[in-house]
Amino acid sequence: MWHYTEGIANHSPVWNLHGIRILPGPSSLWLDSTGRRLPAPLFPGFDTLATMEHLARGGHDHSWFVLTQRIIEKEFALSGSEQNPDLTGKDLRLLASRVRGGAPGPVDRFLREGDDFVTASDLDTLLDRMAALGGGALDRRLAEREVVARDREVENAFTKDAQIAAIRDARRYRGDRLIRVAPPHRLQDPKAGPLIAVKLRLLTRKSLGGIETDLSGRALTPHGEVLPGLWAAGEASGFGGGGMHGYRSLEGTFLGGCLFSGRVAGRAIARMV
Ligand SMILES: Cc1cc2nc3c(=O)[nH]c(=O)nc-3n(C[C@H](O)[C@H](O)[C@H](O)COP(=O)(O)OP(=O)(O)OC[C@H]3O[C@@H](n4cnc5c(N)ncnc54)[C@H](O)[C@@H]3O)c2cc1C
Repeated sequence: MWHYTEGIANHSPVWNLHGIRILPGPSSLWLDSTGRRLPAPLFPGFDTLATMEHLARGGHDHSWFVLTQRIIEKEFALSGSEQNPDLTGKDLRLLASRVRGGAPGPVDRFLREGDDFVTASDLDTLLDRMAALGGGALDRRLAEREVVARDREVENAFTKDAQIAAIRDARRYRGDRLIRVAPPHRLQDPKAGPLIAVKLRLLTRKSLGGIETDLSGRALTPHGEVLPGLWAAGEASGFGGGGMHGYRSLEGTFLGGCLFSGRVAGRAIARMV
C-alpha cells in the first residue's frame, strides 16, 4: 500500500474512517507526536516514504503541523474530488478565486469543523490544546523550543535552516509565489495569526501491488505461470505507480501507469480474440 503522513479525519465522511490528505506547501513546522521537529529534509511535501519511516520509528501514529492562518490560506490544498469543487465542476471562476486571499471554502470548513484542528491566538494556549488532543504524547516545552528556534531562523537572512532556505527558493518561481508558498514569517507574528495546529494521521490510499502479471497484463500464478483467460491492469496489478515508476513512485504518476497498462492489456486481448 501507499501511505500518506498528512491525513486528517473527514468532517463529513463518505465511508467509515474516511481520511482526507492535505497537499501541503512547504512552510508548516512539522513536529512528531512528542513535539520534536522532523529532521531535514523531511519537510511538508518533500519525501512521503522517508517521513513515514521516520514517524513509524517513533512509535506514535500521529504528528503535527504548526502553522498560521496566513500559511493555511495559501498552502493547504485537499486531495479528493469533493474537496476541489472548482476542478471537479470545471468552474473557472471558482478556480480563479484561489489567487485571492482567504482560505479556500473546503479548507476553511476543516478549520472550523475538523476534529484534528486547533487554533489559538498565542502559543501557550495552542500547546494546551495540542496536548489535550495528542493523548499525552506531547512534550510542551520541547514543542515550544522548536517554534521559537524556527522563528529565530526566519529572521536570519543567512540562515542555514534547510526548510527556510527551501521556502525562499520556492518563492523565486512566480507560480508558487502567487498561489502556493506564503511569504516567510514568524509563526508567532500576531499579524499572521491565529496560530493553527493540525494533528496529522497516517492515511492509506493507493495499492502498489496485487495480481502479478507479465508485461502484456496476463495474470500469473504464484509459480509464475500464465493463468489462462485472466488479465489484470491498473492499480489492481500494481501498475498504479508502483509497477511502472518504482517503489518510490512519484506523486501524480499513478493514473498514467493505470491507463497505459490497461491499453497494453486491451491490445493483447484484442490480438487473442
Ligand atoms: C483521492 C485520490 C487522489 C488521487 N490523486 C491522484 C493524482 O493526482 N494523480 C494520479 O496519477 N493518481 C491519483 N490517484 C490514484 C489514481 O486515481 C488511481 O491509482 C487510479 O484511478 C486507479 O485506476 P484503476 O482503473 O486501476 O482503478 P479504479 O479507478 O479504482 O477502478 C476500479 C473500478 O472497478 C470497480 N469495481 C470494483 N469492484 C468491482 C466489482 N466487483 N465488479 C465491478 N466493478 C468493480 C470500481 O467501482 C471502480 O470503478 C488518486 C487516488 C485517490 C483515491
